[in-house]
Amino acid sequence: MDIQAYAKINLTLDVLDRRTDGYHIVKMIMQNISLYDNLSFSRGNSGIEITTNHPHLPTGPSNLVYKAAELLFNEFNLDGGLEIFIDKQIPVAAGLAGGSTNAAATLVAINKLWGLGLTKDQLATRGAQLGADIPFCIKGGTQLATGIGTQLKELPTCPKLYLVVVNPPLEVSTAQVYQNLTLDEVTKHPETTKVIKALEEKNKKMVINNLSNLLELTTFDLYQEVATLKDNVESLTNKALMSGSGPTVLGFVKNKSQAKAVQAKLQEELSSKHRILVAQTVNHGLLDS
Ligand code: ATP
Repeated sequence: MDIQAYAKINLTLDVLDRRTDGYHIVKMIMQNISLYDNLSFSRGNSGIEITTNHPHLPTGPSNLVYKAAELLFNEFNLDGGLEIFIDKQIPVAAGLAGGSTNAAATLVAINKLWGLGLTKDQLATRGAQLGADIPFCIKGGTQLATGIGTQLKELPTCPKLYLVVVNPPLEVSTAQVYQNLTLDEVTKHPETTKVIKALEEKNKKMVINNLSNLLELTTFDLYQEVATLKDNVESLTNKALMSGSGPTVLGFVKNKSQAKAVQAKLQEELSSKHRILVAQTVNHGLLDS
């Protein structure tokens, strides 16, 4: 079976506290966009075998797909094996939750292929053991995430937003960004409540005006080039925002043709090592195909 696993952005990303165990208490609105990886799953004889079109993606136990499969194989003592091909289109280590969405697809696929009968909530609980973004990737759409990011509340569908996704040739470690975040120095937190109100009122302009990511300052301190990229994208669009912990920068525009025009302009201006993609928000996270 094939599953399209969609990338995630944050309309807001706020961090409220750091727990003594190192986890952070967050408040954020998570949103799927139209970029996706296609994962093909089939039952095999034994073991978990991953192949991919991506030149640098690990295919062994460090792949989140492997971890997700292992978790269900061990818990339910499943027979046989699993073969997975990952057609990777979502930039890796980009702040777009590519690994998490692949893991979510794997949990859903095994649940179907072996007829485990687990609900989405039951799959999300298992996914949370592997990564805080995985429950969102299982549920998808537009969700408010609180706690360590795994407590979800479905929000009204986001009005369709068009964006340009600009991924520079740089990998940012999410853990490093969180470790360097100094909450005492934060003077202004993202207005998540305002964005929820904007979603309820279907007020696109109000959504765009209040897009905000608390991690920007920390990532910009660590990687000055991401700050420069954001300024560049902002000068061509209505609003620029760093995605997750970076380094990808999102530029929000009016419609698809403006997105394509901005894409073309950035392709001229930036080195060819940047991936510059056109996307739009979607109201689902995983699709069977
Ligand atoms: P997050 O914001 O959730 O940390 P991200 O979008 O920044 O994630 P990913 O694309 O998930 O980044 O990759 C983070 C790391 O996970 C990379 O170092 C990558 O090698 C590793 N990884 C393991 N499995 C996968 C996978 N299936 N797809 C992408 N990356 C994976």
